[in-house]
Amino acid sequence: MTPITPRIAIIGGGPGGLICARVLQRHGIPVTVFDRDAYAEERPQGGTLDMQEGTGQVALHEAGLTEAFQAIARPEGQEMRLLDHTGTLLFRHAPPPGEQGEPEIDRGELRRLLLDSLAPGTVRWGRYLRTLHPLGDGTHKAEFDGGPTETFDLVIGADGAWSRVRPLLSDHSPHYSGVTFVETGCDDADTRHPAIARLVGDGSMMAAHNNKALIAQRNSHARIRVYAAFRGSQDWALEHGVRLADPEAVRAALLERFAGWDDRLLALLRENDDGFVNRPLHALPVPHTWTHTPGLTLLGDAAHLMTPFSGMGANLAMLDGCELALSLARHTESDEAVRAYEAAMLPRAAQAAEAAARGLDNAIAPDAPQGSLRHLYHSSDRPSGEHRPPAR
Ligand SMILES: Cc1cc2nc3c(=O)[nH]c(=O)nc-3n(C[C@H](O)[C@H](O)[C@H](O)COP(=O)(O)OP(=O)(O)OC[C@H]3O[C@@H](n4cnc5c(N)ncnc54)[C@H](O)[C@@H]3O)c2cc1C
Repeated sequence: MTPITPRIAIIGGGPGGLICARVLQRHGIPVTVFDRDAYAEERPQGGTLDMQEGTGQVALHEAGLTEAFQAIARPEGQEMRLLDHTGTLLFRHAPPPGEQGEPEIDRGELRRLLLDSLAPGTVRWGRYLRTLHPLGDGTHKAEFDGGPTETFDLVIGADGAWSRVRPLLSDHSPHYSGVTFVETGCDDADTRHPAIARLVGDGSMMAAHNNKALIAQRNSHARIRVYAAFRGSQDWALEHGVRLADPEAVRAALLERFAGWDDRLLALLRENDDGFVNRPLHALPVPHTWTHTPGLTLLGDAAHLMTPFSGMGANLAMLDGCELALSLARHTESDEAVRAYEAAMLPRAAQAAEAAARGLDNAIAPDAPQGSLRHLYHSSDRPSGEHRPPAR
């Protein structure tokens, strides 16, 4: 029997889990978030995210955070440049003043914004979900590293790519997409790396050729984050005798891989302040679904991990979190609420995951950057910017 006030646990304090908690609390529904991080800033949160009008911004609106978001968002970050490996600019979108379709925000700032909106004590830090035991009546006993075992009426798996909740619902786990990102970056680019700052501009830049790409994005405080992307084994470093912890060896291996590219682009690999982080891209099968199970559900990457080529992972996670919370607020039975949420979320996620798979095939392709160029022209109904005709 579902109690009047269900005991709800959200596993994972990423964008999806935190916004779900915020919207639940706005509707007077108690919730606890458990995150494995010891504290909010324990891990660098990664790059910048564009908050899109139909997804992330809808969630921020339901969370009552639109104004706070706009105060720290970077609309100028919507600038987008596409180049080929000779450094020739093929496409540039410069957002006109006032364009708010997809303003950027650093992930760390988004996390802080969401955390500050929650009732004190909502997030229990340093709690890694180890195991969930179904108790047979729709409730689950959750065992955590770093805290006592607790029982919940509804467990929401918002615990990302390698979710510990997902195996209770689905036999699938993420597979390697065939593309690896190697991440690096530089700080204070306007002053210390002005040529790179000019190359990247106010937003993001991608140069692509023959199954490879160099992707760079401006974060706040003039930080430029760089990804060297290529098709190949996720164990490329091991296979080439390169130690990932040795920045000089990784740099040399990447410069060899990108040999022949214009020097202005190779500066992205030469002039970095950080080491290199290997990020093989994984995805769940498309569509990823499960049989509805009382007392459990998933959102965000736990439900539909896709490669970043959809540009929508965080946006979808936030929309999922928001819609699940609204559904719980509207239904008296939490099981009905979860069913309604899953019925809307799963097809939407499948559509986005298909687009992500197509986006990856277009971007990291033998004929790159032609696929990305065609895609940009088809999807671009923007009124301004320096759009040049596609090559074919
Ligand atoms: C290189 C790259 C670039 C990207 N760029 C974009 C972009 O531009 N736009 C966009 O929308 N998306 C982008 N994404 C995707 C986006 O980062 C994810 O889709 C998004 O973070 C998913 O949010 P989430 O809340 O579902 O999960 P996550 O952000 O992964 O959060 C999961 C949380 O769960 C916690 N956790 C994990 N396991 C446990 C456990 N067992 N117990 C307790 N806590 C746990 C983690 O500490 C974490 O806080 C990008 C992804 C990558 C890899």
